[in-house]
Amino acid sequence: MSATLLKTLEENLSNSTIISNDKAVLNIYLQGTEGLEKLNGKNRELIAVVKVAEANDIKLLLDLANKLATNPKEKFTLYPISTGNNWGYGTSQPASLEKNIILVDLSALTTISEFDHTLGLVTLEPGVTQQQLSDYLLQHNYDYMVPVTGAGPNCSILANALERGYGITPYTDHFGAVISIHGYWADGTPFQSAICELDKSTDKFVDKTFKWGLGPYLDGLFTQSNFAIATQMTIRLAKLKPEFTSFFIQIEDDALLEKVIPLIRQTLQDYEGIVGSINLLDQRRILSMFAKNPHASKQYNLTSNEVNMLAKQQNAPCWTVIGSIYGSKGVVKVVQKEVDTIFKQIPCKRIFSNSLLITLPKKIINLIPRWLIKRVNLLSMAAEQLDSFDKGKEIMLGKPNTVALKLAYWRHNNAASFDKSSLSPSEDSCGLLWYAPLITMKASHMREFVCFVRDVCPKYSIEPFITFTNLRHDCVDSTVPIVFDSSNPQAVKDAHACLKELVTIGLTKGFVPYRLNIDQQQWLLDEKTDFWQTVNKLKKALDPNDILSVGRYNPR
Ligand SMILES: Cc1cc2nc3c(=O)[nH]c(=O)nc-3n(C[C@H](O)[C@H](O)[C@H](O)COP(=O)(O)OP(=O)(O)OC[C@H]3O[C@@H](n4cnc5c(N)ncnc54)[C@H](O)[C@@H]3O)c2cc1C
Repeated sequence: MSATLLKTLEENLSNSTIISNDKAVLNIYLQGTEGLEKLNGKNRELIAVVKVAEANDIKLLLDLANKLATNPKEKFTLYPISTGNNWGYGTSQPASLEKNIILVDLSALTTISEFDHTLGLVTLEPGVTQQQLSDYLLQHNYDYMVPVTGAGPNCSILANALERGYGITPYTDHFGAVISIHGYWADGTPFQSAICELDKSTDKFVDKTFKWGLGPYLDGLFTQSNFAIATQMTIRLAKLKPEFTSFFIQIEDDALLEKVIPLIRQTLQDYEGIVGSINLLDQRRILSMFAKNPHASKQYNLTSNEVNMLAKQQNAPCWTVIGSIYGSKGVVKVVQKEVDTIFKQIPCKRIFSNSLLITLPKKIINLIPRWLIKRVNLLSMAAEQLDSFDKGKEIMLGKPNTVALKLAYWRHNNAASFDKSSLSPSEDSCGLLWYAPLITMKASHMREFVCFVRDVCPKYSIEPFITFTNLRHDCVDSTVPIVFDSSNPQAVKDAHACLKELVTIGLTKGFVPYRLNIDQQQWLLDEKTDFWQTVNKLKKALDPNDILSVGRYNPR
């Protein structure tokens, strides 16, 4: 960055905002789990990072970028991130390979400006993390759930919604729960809804209660796009119910997949609003959460013998259905019985988190001294399983934790050395990409998908881990993590080739990703189609100088 530009930024931005062009600092933001920097010719660059301390600086930055856009020497573009933990999709890296990008880090904007505890509506800034919201709710004794994800405590609530991410609490679809957004379009024009503009009251609160506003719905333009920077969001939180139980349906026979899918659909249709989203995980995916990889960073998949042995040790069946029931004591009791009856139709083990099978061993383990548990292998395995089980339950109750992050360390040669409570896959040099296609909620399609993933992944020495998440009874997204050893250049290449084959061949079968990583955003989307031509018209109108998040969901 030129000395003049640095000086201009320093003169314009507030004193507490930090501007850095130190290579070591920039490199931290350029380190992702995706291994992009190790693929030939794919080096992303930054000229500076601006860590914004005051929301007003966002408007100042946009104005400055627009003003200097016609000056070829000083022209720069902006790439905003909230907490920059978009692991597997780009982490904190900019989407494009341009050379004049200033990364705008909004993680220091952590104000929760309002919480209406009777309505459960929270208004927060981009840097507010799952943990911060959880602490806030606990501190004030508000019985609401954080919209948690597997990405854990240090991720932004607002940015996850902008990515249209999802979790497993009752409000699964995170953008679905966003009621109101404030921000700036790329040309610096402020944005609030038409309801907010019309409202002459002092608190303008009614805007925070109605998602769709008035007139064209523009809030959606903030998501998976590069038109605007969001500075504030109001989100509807799910209320904690008096009673809760999670269920684990264990199916030993792979061939029963076709039989269990209609039962999941029935459960979701019959108990909408009481049963949260349902996950269906295959055996290897369960092992990735509980077992130690015997090959660590080596480029070998588990053999079927190893899978069988680990599955026996970890009590991991071919398929596991995980769901949760929320409600009053009476409702949960009845629905638990109904769920049990539904799944009884197929041979399976049905475990409920409030059953003696779970609560009793937990009580016993708690009575055993820690040192003894550590010495006796079987005990320590049981203790670890119960602990992970508890952590999974916490997530369903909207309490963030790092239990799901272990997955990213599957191919890490030093996986055991990291402190479980403070995992950060990018800082810890994990290799991870996501393949996250939507699949029609029909047994034949889901089986076709399973065969497809199990066929493609091993060709590239990638373990075929499969999760299906039912966002609703009629909509399934699968998340297949492509976990690789990021220190091995061949493994990085294989991982990307595997993802490319999954995506390109998957498209011919109707498996279409709901979200893309920053590299895919460059090669998969076709600027010539009607959809992206329209997006480009919008881009020109809202960002005439092309200064915002160049390349993010925007082919040209
Ligand atoms: C093991 C594991 C499990 C995961 N589980 C889940 C899961 O259950 N659900 C899920 O959705 N994801 C999951 N992820 C993926 C990802 O880590 C999360 O989605 C995470 O929340 C995204 O990172 P972030 O919140 O820090 O967003 P950021 O990285 O801050 O933002 C993401 C992108 O949004 C844009 N953006 C951010 N802030 C703004 C703003 N204020 N204005 C305009 N644009 C902005 C930027 O382009 C940015 O690159 C998982 C990842 C791992 C490794």
